[in-house]
Amino acid sequence: MTFQISRSIRCLLIFAGAVGASFLVMVTDASSQLVDSPREVLESLGLETAKIGHITAHFRPADRSRALELATLVDEASAMFEKELRLSFPVELAALAPDDWFSDIPGIPYAIPWPAMNQRLLFLPSSLQVGLMVEGRDPDVARRLVDFVALHENGHIAAKEYFRPGDSVDYIPVQWFRELVATYFAYCYIATADPAWAESSRAEWARAVAASTPPVLSLDWGFMNEMTGVELAQTYEWYQLMLNLKAAELFDVHGVALLPALKRLPWDRSRDWASVFVIDSLDPIDPGLSQWARNFGAAQSGGVR
Ligand SMILES: [Zn+2]
Repeated sequence: MTFQISRSIRCLLIFAGAVGASFLVMVTDASSQLVDSPREVLESLGLETAKIGHITAHFRPADRSRALELATLVDEASAMFEKELRLSFPVELAALAPDDWFSDIPGIPYAIPWPAMNQRLLFLPSSLQVGLMVEGRDPDVARRLVDFVALHENGHIAAKEYFRPGDSVDYIPVQWFRELVATYFAYCYIATADPAWAESSRAEWARAVAASTPPVLSLDWGFMNEMTGVELAQTYEWYQLMLNLKAAELFDVHGVALLPALKRLPWDRSRDWASVFVIDSLDPIDPGLSQWARNFGAAQSGGVR
């Protein structure tokens, strides 16, 4: 089949990318089925709610503690965005118990974080004990992985609110760039609030990227539409981790200031962007980033293979 890298697959693989390839084998053959009305599904669960700053959390009573932790984390990131970027927006966060979990990928046992973009609603796991991505992991590592993905998903919403508020289109079409920007929001927060977290994650990403090379090296991710299963999963994972590292590199140079600089791109036309247009438009903002993107294949292991 033609494999479209859907929102949920993307988010799943980001999560998986942070965790390791072992569970990817188990999930990437799942068929995709859109959840048309996530709000209705959420409301049908009859969860409790609590508000922390800009964040409204939804949870079962037993999950209150973890839900409020996640809400506090996302709110702290929001507070940083407000201070640094004058960006302020409400977010809802559903910390779902395993039995309540739902996503675009049916039959997956729990914990594939995803955002309902136009409703500013994040779906996150409430449990750090259950789920393929945390089982068998050191509890501290698992917690940080889940937390980073929560920040990444929030980063997608932050990017939309910051660069193109009111746009009815959930995602811009240039996948590598939208993932880089979402991760940049997340990385800005952890690098500022918890540099040790940023450093340890960075080391893990670097190890994973160095450990393998995908079959095609290109920022045009269309080639992944021809991939399925493990090959798709491992390839997408590699690209996400590579972009995480690029975000960290960029942060070393620009800090949070890269985000206001990126506002100079013509976001009002972003639904029509192509990769080459984005790359050219980045030239005056960071010629190094532009050059890296332009030469990506050639810069890595001698080009596309
Ligand atoms: Zn993402």
